[in-house]
Amino acid sequence: ELSNGLTVNGPGLFGDSLPVPSVTGHKYGRGHALVVSGGRARTGAARLAARAALRIGAGLVTVASPADALAENAAHLTAIMLRPVEDAAQLAEALADERFNALVIGPAAGVGERTRAFVAATGAAGRALVLDADALTSFAGDVDSLRAAIGPATRRGVVLTPHEGEFARLFAQEAAVASARSKLTRAQHAAQRTGAVVVIKGADTVIAAPDGRAAINDNGSPWLATAGSGDVLAGMIAGALAQGVPAFEAACAGVWLHGAAAQLGGAGLIAEDLPELLPRVLPQVL
Ligand code: AMP
Ligand code: MG
Repeated sequence: ELSNGLTVNGPGLFGDSLPVPSVTGHKYGRGHALVVSGGRARTGAARLAARAALRIGAGLVTVASPADALAENAAHLTAIMLRPVEDAAQLAEALADERFNALVIGPAAGVGERTRAFVAATGAAGRALVLDADALTSFAGDVDSLRAAIGPATRRGVVLTPHEGEFARLFAQEAAVASARSKLTRAQHAAQRTGAVVVIKGADTVIAAPDGRAAINDNGSPWLATAGSGDVLAGMIAGALAQGVPAFEAACAGVWLHGAAAQLGGAGLIAEDLPELLPRVLPQVL
């Protein structure tokens, strides 16, 4: 803890909650993450998130893809599975399989009613959930609808990962959030208002839980300001959630490991590198 009361994110906050694969364990014991893909020509973001979820230790990862993007996704996936999902009704059908226990919705998912319905279907099914990018913008200025879509059953397992622009859009109508003085207070207000863990990204990322816990993370690299790095972060957090890590710890773990991987990658880092660097940074926390 710093002298001003801020907790600095690090392995001490989450190291004990990240599971180490056991000698007798099997893949179904390590969770099954589901990542919603965008349509044709907008599929890379979901695959980045899926790859990150797998690398952080989820036992299985599936990309849920609209029909028009199935061939494109299939051409670029190997260990990650693929499932046709056209709309929220089909997502709800998929979620009848209890083994899908953590989802990513948002990266290149499209802004609008379809994405809102995906979130509601996941909330109704009570699954852990990372909401990023287009999923956040789909609820811009309408936090009441976001709260309703997430639902009480799943709320404690939800992590929101806005960058500053997405945060401003989502909370545009929220005077208490918008008027808060610091990034830390904004994150804490937003977490209380939504009931979810809120991660406001940037060079100084803030992570806040509805119960008041908060941490600031500064171990990243300016090279993280690159296309797709946020999608990787969403996948890392979902992969931790899939393994049963609680939402605040999953967010802290994802953000810290993402920063540590970026530091290790150094100059020239691109988003694709981040999941592949995880095997070299995970030993620091497991
Ligand atoms: P996004 O804005 O969704 O693409 O996410 C970008 C990711 O990179 C987030 O995890 C940010 O925290 C991180 N990031 C962006 N710019 C910087 C920076 N200058 N220094 C450190 N991390 C950064
Ligand atoms: Mg992003």
